[in-house]
Amino acid sequence: MLALRLKAWKTEAVLEEVPEPELPPAGALIRVLGAGACHSDLHLMHDFDQDSLRWGLPFTLGHENAGEIVALGRNGFGLEMGQKVAVYGPWGCGHCRRCAIGEETYCENAARIGAGGGGLGLDGGMASVMAVPDNRLLVPIGDLDPVEAAPLTDAGLTPYHAVKRSLHKLIPGSAAVVIGAGGLGHMAVQILKAVSPAKVVVVDTRSEALAFALNLGADETVMMGADASSHIMEITHGQGAEAVIDLVGADSTISLGMQVARTRGDISLVGLAGGSAPFGFFTTRYEVEMASTYWGTRAELMEVIALARAGLIRSHVQSFKLEEAIGAYRLMREGKLEGRAVITPNL
Ligand SMILES: [Zn+2]
Ligand SMILES: [Zn+2]
Repeated sequence: MLALRLKAWKTEAVLEEVPEPELPPAGALIRVLGAGACHSDLHLMHDFDQDSLRWGLPFTLGHENAGEIVALGRNGFGLEMGQKVAVYGPWGCGHCRRCAIGEETYCENAARIGAGGGGLGLDGGMASVMAVPDNRLLVPIGDLDPVEAAPLTDAGLTPYHAVKRSLHKLIPGSAAVVIGAGGLGHMAVQILKAVSPAKVVVVDTRSEALAFALNLGADETVMMGADASSHIMEITHGQGAEAVIDLVGADSTISLGMQVARTRGDISLVGLAGGSAPFGFFTTRYEVEMASTYWGTRAELMEVIALARAGLIRSHVQSFKLEEAIGAYRLMREGKLEGRAVITPNL
């Protein structure tokens, strides 16, 4: 079968023929119906190297996957052949305390596993068939379109986890700031509107992205720039936001978050741009809590799927054939995608 493979660090991925995977004894084979193209794949291709990740090469990209079960190993209780499922992306050991509570993102044995999951050091979904090592990683999607379900596993789950961290602070009259209106941002806006009464303020550098965010239900948009913080303070009546979700993670966006987080507010740093900002007594309001967050839990993926099945959130996708995947990543790199690019290897 044809697969989109990362073969060397600091190069684009390439399409090549690989053998179809074998059925893992306690897992499943999935006929991939949607594999989301994530911005972090661009970091894999262009920024990271062996020293930063220590993963073996080559592997097939695609860590946001949904498809149909075509082979099922043992212990597949409640699952069946032909069933449509989303694949939980971060693959931990499955038995440490973190994994036991579904936080496989923070698996205590991650260093020993030496990979982050399918598409992250192990073969992912940018091929017609994908092997999933354990059935616990499969979440049935019911009648959701797998092409739209695929991005829920990362572009949906990652902001959902960040929102949930601050949900108790997002009371009526509160505000949440989403920085970055791309693949994750377009989901963050809908998630916030679906689960909280907070006023949602979206920040981006691109006017088209801000218009898109308004269409998805954002209450206010702010152009990123020198006066972004004063604009947000005005919108929040001089108080700032209870939650800032930074989906970019550059020096400038982290500073902006620190300027606009309300006293006792939260800043969740999600974006991988690698920026930083100094922290000191006078750099934020009192008792602002800052955390980097990575992806989300297995139970939260079930919640995200439930939100989508209830019609409360929807991923906006542009689909591409596997042969067009490299072009899709180039469009993403140029900021020319609206919503999420999803590769459909079986179309
Ligand atoms: Zn991702
Ligand atoms: Zn674990």
